[in-house]
This record gives sequence, C-alpha cells and structure tokens, in this order.
Amino acid sequence: MSESYDFLFKFLVIGNAGTGKSCLLHQFIEKRFNDDSNHTIGVEFGSKIVSMVNKTVKLQIWDTAGQERFRSVTRSYYRGAAGALLVYDITSRETYNALTTWLSDARMLASQNIVVVLCGNKKDLDSEREVTFLEASRFAQENELMFLETSALTGENVEEAFAQCARKILTKIESGELDPERMGSGIQYGDAALRHLHASRRAQPQVTQECGC
Ligand code: GDP
Ligand code: MG
Repeated sequence: MSESYDFLFKFLVIGNAGTGKSCLLHQFIEKRFNDDSNHTIGVEFGSKIVSMVNKTVKLQIWDTAGQERFRSVTRSYYRGAAGALLVYDITSRETYNALTTWLSDARMLASQNIVVVLCGNKKDLDSEREVTFLEASRFAQENELMFLETSALTGENVEEAFAQCARKILTKIESGELDPERMGSGIQYGDAALRHLHASRRAQPQVTQECGC
C-alpha cells in the first residue's frame, strides 16, 4: 500500500503576506515554482509523505489561504499543529520585525511545544537583502528555533526546511518529550506504526503474568 506511514504530523506555514509561504508549499509538494501571480486564494492545503531514517511520515500542511492579509488567522487554524515554518522575506525588514508576533501566536494557539523552523525566504534575491543571515540566526538561537534561508524560486533548502522540522518532532517523540497520544499534539499514528503498536500490546499481558506481585 503506497499510503503507508508511521506518523502523520500537522504543519503550519505562517508569516506575513507576500513572504512566499504559498510558493514554498507549492515548491515542496510539486517541486516547482508557482509563478502565477494572479492566484488570489493560493494553495490552502497540501500533504506529502517523507521518508526519514527509520520512519515514514506524512506531513499534512496548512497554508493561511490569504487570511494573514486581514490579520484574521484563526485559532482553529493553529489548533493541534506539531510543527510550523515561520517565514519572513530576507528583502523585507518589515516581515522580519513581525516574527515575534507570529511566534507568540503559534506558541499560544497551537502549543508551547510546537517545533518551529525559521525560513528566511527569497534567498535568491541576495542583492536586495535587508536582513543579514547572522542577525536572523541570533534571533533563532534566542527563541530556540531552527533556521534556514530558503528560495521557493530555485527550490534551495525547501525540502530541508520541512524535513528538519519533521526530524526534530520524531526525535522528541523518541525521547518521550512529545506524546503522540496527547490530545492536540498534532501527531497521529499511521497504519505502519499502529500495526507495530498492536503487536507490542498483544505481547504485553505475558509480561504482566510473569510479574509475581
Ligand atoms: P504568501 O502571501 O506568503 O503566500 O506569498 P506568495 O507565495 O504568494 O509569494 C508572494 C510573492 O513573492 C509572489 O510574487 C512570488 O512569486 C514571490 N516569491 C515567493 N517566493 C519567492 C522566492 O523564493 N524568490 C523570489 N524571487 N520570489 C518569490
Ligand atoms: Mg499565500
């Protein structure tokens, strides 16, 4: 079955309008740049299965569908997200200055534990840069975010941004820091993991019987 995966993670793409969020999602899913500037609504939703070292993960990614233009990104959009790409445009300081607000909304409305990757998008427009790599990496470090500069135009680091976020969530599941069974964790078990889980649960009663207490 081609749809087999161990986990499903809900992801968000957040940041000011015009930073390239819809293009990043499109590049990740379709592996090409969407240069149709007439799209008013844009991609609202996408999903893709990615293979990690020993797990397969389905990413279910939500785009704001233009709501950010009206500052009306709703509570229900954030609810139960495990990861987020927080996007600014390296050629626009205004979009960088807005990061703190986006980040506090994500932590407040999604989860305090949400795994966030900061993306300085439009890396290809280096000559128009208004935000240096160094200052953004400091911001990322101070706020415990992963950080990459990306280009939805060339595709540079786009796959990596989503993959790094997924990898970090997997690590947190494996270390017990994240509990996939907690309500609103943004994580669901896929078929493959469920089969494994059921197999280990079937094995459990024997362990109890062996215990003499
Ligand atoms: P959103 O409002 O955040 O979803 O932004 P869009 O994805 O609609 O992109 C806004 C504009 O930026 C569009 O004109 C895109 O063609 C352009 N754009 C997006 N990503 C890049 C990029 O990486 N490089 C360049 N040069 N332009 C980009
Ligand atoms: Mg958009």
